[in-house]
Amino acid sequence: MSVDGSAAGEPHPHEPHTEGLASRLNWLRAGVLGANDGIVSTAGLVVGVAAATTESSAILTAGIAGLTAGAISMAAGEYVSVSTQRDSEKALLSKEKRELAEEPEFELAELAQIYRGKGLSAATARQVALELTEHDAFRAHAEAELGLDPTELTNPWAAAISSAVSFTLGALLPLLAILLPPVSWRIPVTFAAVLVALAITGTVSARLGGGDSRRAVLRVVIGGALAMAVTYGIGQLAGVSGI
Ligand SMILES: [Zn+2]
Repeated sequence: MSVDGSAAGEPHPHEPHTEGLASRLNWLRAGVLGANDGIVSTAGLVVGVAAATTESSAILTAGIAGLTAGAISMAAGEYVSVSTQRDSEKALLSKEKRELAEEPEFELAELAQIYRGKGLSAATARQVALELTEHDAFRAHAEAELGLDPTELTNPWAAAISSAVSFTLGALLPLLAILLPPVSWRIPVTFAAVLVALAITGTVSARLGGGDSRRAVLRVVIGGALAMAVTYGIGQLAGVSGI
């Protein structure tokens, strides 16, 4: 509802919460980045092994081992980082809850001050703070002061599983690209498939981030090409010297 009391601005009941949308976009972006990691690291690994040997079982073993290690390491890293973030968010929220119980007047003034800082007049800011406090003081403070939705904290297990899954999906692409074609086509097919896939994930993540997509795509594609070129060189050396 608008400030003058008219009901013209009633929100549509099915309109998505902008914050919910932003967090969903964050998840999508994390998924695309995880897939990217899976593509690049597995591609580098299998191209390196394929440069040293034509044995499919060696390439498959290296690829599966790399995929598994990468997925677990991504999941563990994500679990730790989200847990840490969640712990500090929970600590901030319980501190806020305590302050609300102990000094409600001070907290009301603090909330009004936040809306004053956003450009409302002193009287309006006070009125907004009063109504929000009456409706759900804890939620109002969590959102205005901490930028947190207390009912929507990120689950570390969900983050861990989704990054492991996205890494695995990405890793499957170079693994299939190197194992399916005939031996002499393996490396060129993998290079081509990986660069095309990176161009796609680069475009998607740039669109989600709202940045300059051409430069972002170029960065991702060059990074992937570099990874494969370097491991290809190392694999050739290892293959020639018979390590
Ligand atoms: Zn507060």
